[in-house]
Amino acid sequence: MENTLRAKQTIVETVKFLYDRGLSSGTGGNVALKCGDKFYLTPHGMGPELRYDIGPDDIIVYDMKGNKIHGNREPSVEGNMHLGILMGCPAASASIHAHPYYATVFAYAGKQIPVDMEATRELVGEMPVIDIAPAGSKKLADDVINDVLARSSEIESHGIGLLLALHGMITVGRTMAQALGALEAAEEAARCALLSRLLQ
Ligand SMILES: [Zn+2]
Repeated sequence: MENTLRAKQTIVETVKFLYDRGLSSGTGGNVALKCGDKFYLTPHGMGPELRYDIGPDDIIVYDMKGNKIHGNREPSVEGNMHLGILMGCPAASASIHAHPYYATVFAYAGKQIPVDMEATRELVGEMPVIDIAPAGSKKLADDVINDVLARSSEIESHGIGLLLALHGMITVGRTMAQALGALEAAEEAARCALLSRLLQ
């Protein structure tokens, strides 16, 4: 029970951090965590309807087979994507889907974020761009899961990230802190790459 509350609290604190720091906008976003023998997922409409203002009771809980076992709210539309990542990649415990202000510009343009900075390489590494697919679709979930599973060995040394064309970003980590670190590193790299053009 204590583990459950801690896991839910970790998600609540993470999403508040995401929204307060501009690491995601109210147009979307969802977060999942694997803890003990359960998965935890944010509710549907967390961005547009709730503005990331959620509490522990809003989190949906799943068993290790992906069966919903607790939660009054509807799950995030990207739930299958998160569960597929965390079930398919034993080393991963946390996944974040966000619409970061600057990284989403690269996603919009379908261009990779440069990884010139040391922190970018150390915290997230190369971030491929996944083809356009509707939010919540099976194609989007399958494409993301396939990419993450193909690069899952990278999670031993750092978080991994990828861009969703015309949409946003996903990061995955051994811990929530690692997934969050990957997201911050990606956003910083995107911001620096874009704004440094003004100085040229
Ligand atoms: Zn989204």
